[in-house]
Amino acid sequence: MYSYQKENIINTKIEDLMIKSEKVAHVQVDNPLEHALLVLTKSGYSAVPVLDRNYRLKGLISTTMIMDTILGIESLETEKLSLLKVEDVMNSDIPRLKLNHEFVRALGLTINHPFVCIEDNMGIFCGILTRRSIIKLFTKNLTKLPNS
Ligand code: AMP
Repeated sequence: MYSYQKENIINTKIEDLMIKSEKVAHVQVDNPLEHALLVLTKSGYSAVPVLDRNYRLKGLISTTMIMDTILGIESLETEKLSLLKVEDVMNSDIPRLKLNHEFVRALGLTINHPFVCIEDNMGIFCGILTRRSIIKLFTKNLTKLPNS
């Protein structure tokens, strides 16, 4: 049998668990699609945040969104990679967390999203919280009960 340190988990601060913006691969709204595809492919991430020139969070872009856009009826319309910009394809309807939100809010959001973007009160991108880091936190706070 196992028990877990409930307080440690509930009282976790989003800031303590997030990957800070400096370490997060991102693209900008006005980058051509081919740049986004390059970042996604080279980083190995399936989706990355989209920021404007002032580092404000604008949305997410994924390899699937790009492939879906360039998929023609019979062939790949690769010219779209240089003609279209990230903002033409990105999803701007994304879940967001603020630095001062309670951790339980993050828990709920990561049920359906592998990561959630965090912004400050001015909308400036601060980093991401991944489902992986939350599962790690739970694992770290599990204790095996004696005689079990
Ligand atoms: P992981 O939990 O590490 O598998 O990450 C889940 C998803 O979060 C990845 O597929 C990416 O979309 C995103 N992600 C994780 N770490 C980063 C990072 N350093 N930069 C950009 N996106 C990331």
